[in-house]
Amino acid sequence: MIALRRLFRKLVRTTGLPGLILAWFALEAGHWLGPAPQPSVNAPQACADFHSWVCDDETVRRDLTGEVGRDEAGENEAESLLEDIQEDHPDWREPQQQAELVRAIYTPERVARLQTAFRWTRQTLERFLEKQPLKDLSADERRFLKSSIHSVQLDLPTPEHPYSEDPGLLTETQVYFEKRSDGSRRIRMGGGYLLSVNSWFNWVATFAHELGHSIDPCELRAANRSFPAYDRLNACLIKSGAVKLHRDRAECQEHDQLDEAFSDWLASQAVYEALRTSRPELDGAGLRVAIRNSVLDLCDRDVPFLETLTGSYPSARSRIQEIYGAHPGLRQMMGCAPRPGCSFSGP
Ligand SMILES: [Zn+2]
Repeated sequence: MIALRRLFRKLVRTTGLPGLILAWFALEAGHWLGPAPQPSVNAPQACADFHSWVCDDETVRRDLTGEVGRDEAGENEAESLLEDIQEDHPDWREPQQQAELVRAIYTPERVARLQTAFRWTRQTLERFLEKQPLKDLSADERRFLKSSIHSVQLDLPTPEHPYSEDPGLLTETQVYFEKRSDGSRRIRMGGGYLLSVNSWFNWVATFAHELGHSIDPCELRAANRSFPAYDRLNACLIKSGAVKLHRDRAECQEHDQLDEAFSDWLASQAVYEALRTSRPELDGAGLRVAIRNSVLDLCDRDVPFLETLTGSYPSARSRIQEIYGAHPGLRQMMGCAPRPGCSFSGP
């Protein structure tokens, strides 16, 4: 609807009265199309092929907390906001235009909600690590992992600091974890992502995945730490097919998928908690839409088939099916038969 309003403003500005009539027609058409289609969230299909169930249905994108729109829509909306600013203020220099774009996208309300989701997810992961049996993670290992996760900051742009060294991010859907040369760790979020996704469940999955990179097996290796629980989990992720084995694979090198698979695995734990704690408000269909929304953006982020065999990113099918679709708690929520999932104890 926001995009339609912008089109409305633009048409009025550029074409006068005919544009106004056309724009009104476009706005009203949204209401004439009637209510959103009912979710075709069929549990048996989800149990048989979780990836297809998530990715093949284009119609249901709204859960109780918000929506997961297409990547392309978020990027287009951010680009269009930037164009509006450039048209309205042709005399402004780039940093001023970027600051205005930040004001439009990273609004105080959105930032406050993001920070709440970020803190909730970080705390949930810390609790998950704390709950692991001592036979899997010793007190010292837990302490190391929890403090690594806790040190990650959410770095959102402000009008004064609008991601100046990476201004393209303001219109992109990318969200990334970064370890800086001074040892600090941060997560940055593209403006396109914030415009296309406002579902709490997807935010939790996204934050948890990025936080996962702060303790993924390759980070551990870089910190010269080695935990037997990680060896068991890694072996399970490889055996399950979540990490592709190929001739050129060398652990934690350029073509390895282990860090991504680990971060997805950790994210699936946080997603489960987000859903479990929202259970009282979610009915059967609502719960299934929320499950789907937590991973729906991954469908748009697929990589070409050949790259999934030897590249550093697993396919969307592998991420959704082999990791989220194997989570025992999520399977139980969907009424699917249990399947052996991976854990720090192994398979
Ligand atoms: Zn990642």
